[in-house]
Amino acid sequence: MMHSRRRFSVDVVKDIPTMATKLADHSWCACQGFRLADTPLLLLNDSTGPDGAQEFAVFDVVRGVQTESITVSWMTKERLTAFFHRHLAAVANAETLEGLGKGGLPSLEHGEGPCQHCA
Ligand SMILES: [Zn+2]
Repeated sequence: MMHSRRRFSVDVVKDIPTMATKLADHSWCACQGFRLADTPLLLLNDSTGPDGAQEFAVFDVVRGVQTESITVSWMTKERLTAFFHRHLAAVANAETLEGLGKGGLPSLEHGEGPCQHCA
């Protein structure tokens, strides 16, 4: 991802439809992440800022690698839902994952109080 030095605050989302709705219907702070409950799927906001297109880096949190990058601003709820299903199946069936980019998983310890992105 581009912003691998950001610290993220991660909300656990209960299912794929909820995740798709959150991403399609809102703009998020640049330090916001989402983890899909009971799966290795982790999304971290990789946007340059709240005014730009909402870009998310997709991680397999178990293996600690970035597997995709998606621009959710250009995706409908339906497309996001289909993407998550397809992506989870692909990741589950892969013996090894080719990571995208470098830097690995950024910090998921946002810390107390607002940072420069959510102040
Ligand atoms: Zn923040």
